[in-house]
Amino acid sequence: MPKRKEIPEENWDKIRSQAITKQIMGRGIADERVLNAFQEIPRHLILPPQIPKELAYADRPLPIGYGQTISQPYIVAYMTEKLDLQGNELVLEVGTGSGYQTAILSKLAKEVLSVELIPELAEMARINLKRLKISNAELKIGDGNEGWMENAPYDRIIITACVSDIPKSLMAQLNAPGKLIAPVGNDNRQKLILYEKKPNPPNPPILDIRELLPVMFVPMRTKADLEKMVAKEEE
Ligand code: SAH
Repeated sequence: MPKRKEIPEENWDKIRSQAITKQIMGRGIADERVLNAFQEIPRHLILPPQIPKELAYADRPLPIGYGQTISQPYIVAYMTEKLDLQGNELVLEVGTGSGYQTAILSKLAKEVLSVELIPELAEMARINLKRLKISNAELKIGDGNEGWMENAPYDRIIITACVSDIPKSLMAQLNAPGKLIAPVGNDNRQKLILYEKKPNPPNPPILDIRELLPVMFVPMRTKADLEKMVAKEEE
């Protein structure tokens, strides 16, 4: 097979800004800060080596190994815009994957903490974030269903794997005021849902729930699922 011609590094800025214009601005995302964050993060440097580089800015999710995917750029932008970050928030992400969404969030919030179940993916994300010189993101290997108790409450929570319901401990770790976005549903039908916790003293906070787009995310796993997956691979 002929060797693929490498795309020179200086061409990527243009490829990326064309993708942003078409896929993200073209679908109605106008928040300047979100658009700038997309321009700042080189998605082509985040993909695992087995993915052809020319797919980096394609309008689709891409496989990152272990049956997981990096989300389509538009969906990352959409979820990020809905989180309405001003720059002073503590954010919890569940499902670090490649670290792409983590990197975008790190440009828009004060600090991002991210939990990933699969150690190899957490390691890949750690290398990616280090290469991008991102210093306000911290990663942990663990079950995101439990959140990251030690640093709660979070001003924003983003879940990037599909849940059938928001895990109780995650909702409990959301600050009031605070926002949580997640794909909710099953293998056939999912919707992005935005939850907004509003303080209501002297009563408990009010939870506002808004259904957004239909989407398709990989399912959130449990520790037991992971052990089964590993056992199967070792058979
Ligand atoms: N945000 C990622 C894409 C995530 S895909 C990116 O930008 O690349 C969903 C991720 O959730 C996968 O990496 C998967 O391993 C992880 N995941 C699944 N179940 C989880 C759990 N219980 N806790 C933490 N991470 C989980």
